[in-house]
Amino acid sequence: MKTERPPWRFSTLTVRAGWHRRHLNVMPTTAPIVPAVTYLHPMSELDAIFAGEQEGFVYTRYGNPTVAVLEEAVAQLDKGEAAVGFATGMAAVHAALLGVELQSGDTVVCSQDVYGATYSLLSTVFGRLGIKVVFVEIEDLASVRAIISGKRPKIVWIETISNPLLRIADVPALAAAAHAAGAVLMVDSTFATPYLFRPLEHGADYVIHSATKYLGGHGDAMGGLVVSSRTHCEAVRTVAKLAGGPLGPFDAWLILRGLKTLTLRMQRQCENALKLGRWLETHPRVAKVIYPGLLSHPHHSLAKSLLSEGLFGAMVACELKDGSREQVMRFMDNLDLCLAATTLGDVYTEVLYPPMSSHRWLSSEERQRIGIGDGFVRVSVGIEAVEDIIADFAQALEKSA
Ligand SMILES: *Cc1c(COP(=O)(O)O)cnc(C)c1O
Repeated sequence: MKTERPPWRFSTLTVRAGWHRRHLNVMPTTAPIVPAVTYLHPMSELDAIFAGEQEGFVYTRYGNPTVAVLEEAVAQLDKGEAAVGFATGMAAVHAALLGVELQSGDTVVCSQDVYGATYSLLSTVFGRLGIKVVFVEIEDLASVRAIISGKRPKIVWIETISNPLLRIADVPALAAAAHAAGAVLMVDSTFATPYLFRPLEHGADYVIHSATKYLGGHGDAMGGLVVSSRTHCEAVRTVAKLAGGPLGPFDAWLILRGLKTLTLRMQRQCENALKLGRWLETHPRVAKVIYPGLLSHPHHSLAKSLLSEGLFGAMVACELKDGSREQVMRFMDNLDLCLAATTLGDVYTEVLYPPMSSHRWLSSEERQRIGIGDGFVRVSVGIEAVEDIIADFAQALEKSA
C-alpha cells in the first residue's frame, strides 16, 4: 500500500488538483473533447502499446480519443474498415497520396477537373519530386481507359462530383480500369458525402473527404478524412505520424456535432439546389445552368444511377448571359442573404466566382476552353427557405444588369 503523501503546495495543486481516474467512470451522451497530448499507462502497458502489441493512445499526433470517435463514425458511414483524421482536407489528400509509397518515377492519373489545390499539389509539389502526373478528361471514358492501361499509374485520382463543373465520374468503370492496370482508385467524395455516394461500395480503394465542408457543415471547423481498408489506413496513419497534420480534438468534436444532422441538411440542401437550378434555367439573364439533377446535365442519367435517395448534391453552377467580370462582381456584392464566401457545404448559401478565385491563374481563353466563362458562378446551396434564396438571386440579378 502507498503511504500517505504530505499535502501538495499551492503551485503543485494548480497543476494537478481535481482530475482523477475515477472521473472517467461516466458515459456522457456525446463524445467528450479530450485535448490531452499524452495519456498515462502503467509502464508495462505503455511498453506493449509502443511495441504494437496492444492498442492504446500514447500521443495525440498518433491518435486521439475524440478524433477516434469521428474516424469510426465516418468509416461506418462510408462502409470502410477504418479512417484517419487530418487537420484539413488537403492534409488528407496529401497523406492518401503518400500512403501508397509513391516515389520518383511513379505515375498518377488525375482528373483534370479537380479541386484547385489538389491539382496544384500534384503538378507542383509532387511533380518536383519526380512524380509524373497525367491529367485526363474524366468523361471521355475510352481515352481515360487507354491512358490508364498505357501509363500503368500507381494511383488514379478522381472526384465523385467535380469542382466547379459538377461532372459525375463513372466510379465503377474507373475502378475496373485502375485495377486492371494495377493501380488504386482514390476518390475525393467531398461534394457527394457518404449520404449520397459511398465509393468503396463501387470499387474505389480510398475515399477522401474535406470534413470542412458538408460533414462539419457549419463553416466553423476544418478537417479531412481518409477512409479505406484497415491495411491501407495503417499506411496512411504512418504518414500522419511522420508528416503530421493531425485533426485536433476541438475541430473533431465540432465535425462530430455537424455529422449528426448530415442527412437532414443534405436532404434540404439538395432539394433547395434542384429548385434553385430549375428557377435559374428560366431566368432570362442566365445563359446556362449546371446541376446534375437537371435533364440538361450531360451526366444526369449516370448521376441518377450512382447517387442515392434520388438526390443530386447541393452544388449548382451557372453562367450569366454575356456576363463580364464586373457584372458578376456587382451581382455578388448585391447578394443580401447569400454569402460571397470562399467555401462550400455549409448551412448558409455561399456563392463563389471561380475566375477570381480557384481558376484565377488561367487565362480567360483557357478558362473558356474548360467551360468556365467570365460569367461563371458556383453556388453551394444552404438550408434556408428556398423562396428566400431565389428572391435574393432575383434582386441581385436585377441590380447587376
Ligand atoms: C475544400 C476541398 C478540399 C480541401 O479541403 P480543406 O479542408 O480546405 O483542406 C479538397 N477537395 C475538395 C473537393 C474540396 O472541396
